[in-house]
Amino acid sequence: MKNINGVNTEYMKLPLVEEFSTIQGEGFHAGMAAWFIRLAGCDVGCSWCDSRFTWNQADHPMVNTDVITDHAIASGMKSAVITGGEPLIWNLDYLCSVLRKNGVATFLETSGAYPLSGEWDWICLSPKRNKPPMEEICRRADELKVVIKNSSDFEWAEEYRKKVKNTAHLFLQPEWNSFGEIIPHIVGYVKLNPEWRISLQLHKYMHIP
Ligand code: SF4
Repeated sequence: MKNINGVNTEYMKLPLVEEFSTIQGEGFHAGMAAWFIRLAGCDVGCSWCDSRFTWNQADHPMVNTDVITDHAIASGMKSAVITGGEPLIWNLDYLCSVLRKNGVATFLETSGAYPLSGEWDWICLSPKRNKPPMEEICRRADELKVVIKNSSDFEWAEEYRKKVKNTAHLFLQPEWNSFGEIIPHIVGYVKLNPEWRISLQLHKYMHIP
């Protein structure tokens, strides 16, 4: 592992799918403007994944991390959401270090299936059954966001609620293609368990990325 000034410089290039400014549609920061950096690569294999185009890293160019951070900084956005794919497949130490040094807060969207790298202002953990999250990331998560496709997913959500810290914000998010069937169950569940909140994918309603 290379190290310059205490920063791991491994992965000075990252496989970039897309980068854009938008409004965060999900979870705690829903409604807030942010710069999104979507990295390629995911082997978690969720059946309902809406980002399959990210799965194969080879379909996307390896881009110099300095170019990625330059774009984020130039966007003028106060925060960058690092998403995927599963971004923690990659070492994110350098990416986060440059962003934070330049006043861009780092927000992570992860399944938690890979070891944590990078320094984060906010970690959103969305655990997936196919490849459950690592304990360390559960403990560090600021937000737990569980996708609900059927009734058995409530149990899965409660299992992970016990693993995150007490202060973590708790969200249940209907799986997009099952919305009609599952939303009444989520509404009923949250009325009985008000520690949870509902996360809707607002960007999809606004037809923005
Ligand atoms: Fe898709 Fe995310 Fe699941 Fe990977 S972890 S398969 S990107 S939903």
